[in-house]
Amino acid sequence: MGDHYGDVRVQLGRMKSLGEDAGKEDVDPDEEMPLSSPSASPDPTGCITAVPGTDALSADICKQKGKRSSKNPCGKPLQGFPAHAVKNFNSPLCDQTLHIKGTGKILQGKSAESNGNYVGVHESSNTQEPRCEDDFKLPRKRRPVTVDTSKAKTSLEALKLSIKELQWKEFHTGRRAACDIYWHGVSFHDNENIVSGQVNKFPGMVEMLRKINLSRAVRTMQELFPEEYDFYPRSWILPEEYQQFSTEIRMVKESDATESPTFIVKPDGGSQGDGIYLIRDPGDLKLVVGAQAKQAVVQEYIHKPLLIDKLKFDIRLYVLIKSMQPLEIYIAKEGLTRFCTEPYQEPSQKNLSRVFMHLTNYSLNVQSGNYVHSDSQNTGSKRTLSSVLYRLAAKGVDIKRVWSDIIALVIKSVIAVLPDLKVHYQADIPPAKPGPTCFQILGFDILLMKNLKPVLLEVNSNPSMRIEHEQEVAPGVFEYVPSPVDEQVKVGVIRDTLRLMDPFNKKLTATPQPRGGGSDPLEVIPADGDSLDRSPDNAGNLPPLCLKQVYPKYTKQFSHLRLVERIAALFIRFLGVKGNMRLGPTAFRTFIRTCKLSNSNFTMASVDILYIDITRRWSFALADSREAGMGLQAFVEAFFNLAGRRFKSLTLREQVVSLLDLCESHLGPQSGVEDRRSLSCSRALQRGSRPQALYIPHPRPSSPAAQRRATSQDCRPHQRPKPRTLRANVEN
Ligand code: ADP
Repeated sequence: MGDHYGDVRVQLGRMKSLGEDAGKEDVDPDEEMPLSSPSASPDPTGCITAVPGTDALSADICKQKGKRSSKNPCGKPLQGFPAHAVKNFNSPLCDQTLHIKGTGKILQGKSAESNGNYVGVHESSNTQEPRCEDDFKLPRKRRPVTVDTSKAKTSLEALKLSIKELQWKEFHTGRRAACDIYWHGVSFHDNENIVSGQVNKFPGMVEMLRKINLSRAVRTMQELFPEEYDFYPRSWILPEEYQQFSTEIRMVKESDATESPTFIVKPDGGSQGDGIYLIRDPGDLKLVVGAQAKQAVVQEYIHKPLLIDKLKFDIRLYVLIKSMQPLEIYIAKEGLTRFCTEPYQEPSQKNLSRVFMHLTNYSLNVQSGNYVHSDSQNTGSKRTLSSVLYRLAAKGVDIKRVWSDIIALVIKSVIAVLPDLKVHYQADIPPAKPGPTCFQILGFDILLMKNLKPVLLEVNSNPSMRIEHEQEVAPGVFEYVPSPVDEQVKVGVIRDTLRLMDPFNKKLTATPQPRGGGSDPLEVIPADGDSLDRSPDNAGNLPPLCLKQVYPKYTKQFSHLRLVERIAALFIRFLGVKGNMRLGPTAFRTFIRTCKLSNSNFTMASVDILYIDITRRWSFALADSREAGMGLQAFVEAFFNLAGRRFKSLTLREQVVSLLDLCESHLGPQSGVEDRRSLSCSRALQRGSRPQALYIPHPRPSSPAAQRRATSQDCRPHQRPKPRTLRANVEN
């Protein structure tokens, strides 16, 4: 075993040297894979230690300083100061005079008390930090970062441990003055009236990651980039697409009588496996509950998953969206794997209802007599991702490929939901209104197919951060006992998220960014994508970050996918009224006029008909009249339609790019997304991939635009859900 592990490490070392090539097409396969030896002593921090050493720290800082200018933010040269002084100068008051990333807000100069919260400048006035005056002083001691944990719910234990490790200050019942960070257990709105600081949730994330909305967002991307988005199982939205689903399945069966595909049905707002069932015949769908049609997704069932110890398992990966604009994504190098508790068999009519065989949810399997609680990270029904990858590597599996495919899946999924999130963001925190900035930890549930292709099952906006589990300590006596595996992984993720969000540790290069749909300066891709990972922080003795930046690090490979964001930028631009999320008919006409899209063949009367037609199909009995109008998804459909009319001979993707270019040329420099420069159609068309179709082939009609139109006529789109049933800390 020891020798083998040695081999694996050598192999990893080799991979690492490959990874330096920033210009290559694929994701760096050396993304510090979560690989550890089962025999190695677990790192109590939850981080994998087989990463580049921290010795590079000071050199790194110097490198960063060299890359920037050698001036401090006040324009004073920093020569002669030791690296740590330069580093510390990075944060205090000078930082607070900067725009906060993603908000366009300038902290300094605001001192008013608003809604019981003080804005940042009050906070900073209490610090013992040097001011940006002519006589530059070395910093003495900075005040601890303050965290409001009053709404943290079940994340509280892990959060407390993290705050303690960082020597920050916790306010568990809230605080009258503003805190630097607010930790919410469910949604952005857990704590209203926050006007400064940072909140660990984005507005609209809960809604966007519900099963139907996620499926829709991915589907839009599948239309534009079918090969790149083949990691999501074919899905139909119920009840709207019932007819389409039945017809397609009937046709599959008729064309090959031996085919008997299986489908998994998932209620829209469901979690923890609740209400999920498998079917082999559309007739078995439970479409109505009581008198109500049930909103659900029916999805192709991945019938050949990768097994370990004959058991099906899935991966829970933690992903941090550090900033939406510019987009910054981090992936935790360590995750969890959740195992079924009954040996897997391919689905048959007989075994369809065996949940312990088919569903990997912790909350279900923990009820099975076979569930194994283990303190070890590489045995039991919940294990670390690294221990599983180690097992696979030991069997000769190319885990660097698997890991880079997983990174690609994560980045692409985030890109799919980003346009809608931006609409929510500008509605909740319009640029002119004081508000916090946001970040969020997401839980990605990923299944590995037998051929090692990762498949996205769902993205959880509130992944469980519980570090204890319920156990029967004596017959009939249940207690919450610590779960070492959960603690190892989750405390690392929370602590390092906090470190990355440390308001006093902002990089000097942080470019002020406007919020919402405003213009985006081009993203600056650091030459060394790892530099931040190794930055020291105030505690100084903390381990290397277990969160790894993947975007903007891999901007080059993925920016061509950010087309719908450009459509969203147009949409937001024409929304008009602050806080609005729907476009009215006049605004739509203004868009058409401003972008000069009407002509003698497409008159303003046709524009009105298009608006009414699409809006009607996307609108449902809206009780709330404020929500009348055209939402982003409907606007995207209208945009595809306009692009199809205008550039008939091109493919859908080319049509959309051409129309975007045309609209943006009429609008000037305000439009577009941050990666505007690299969003070229030719790049999009060049992009190769490794098509590995899932079980049910995605039909590819000759004209995607025609397909889009046909689809939109067949099915009524899903109503934007309201944040009614919010899921809190879901452990799957
Ligand atoms: P929930 O939010 O209720 O946990 P998921 O989408 O995560 O819903 O599905 C629950 C479980 O069902 C997953 O953990 C996985 O084991 C299984 N599952 C979900 N979708 C598929 C699929 N398309 N193919 C195979 N198994 C699936």
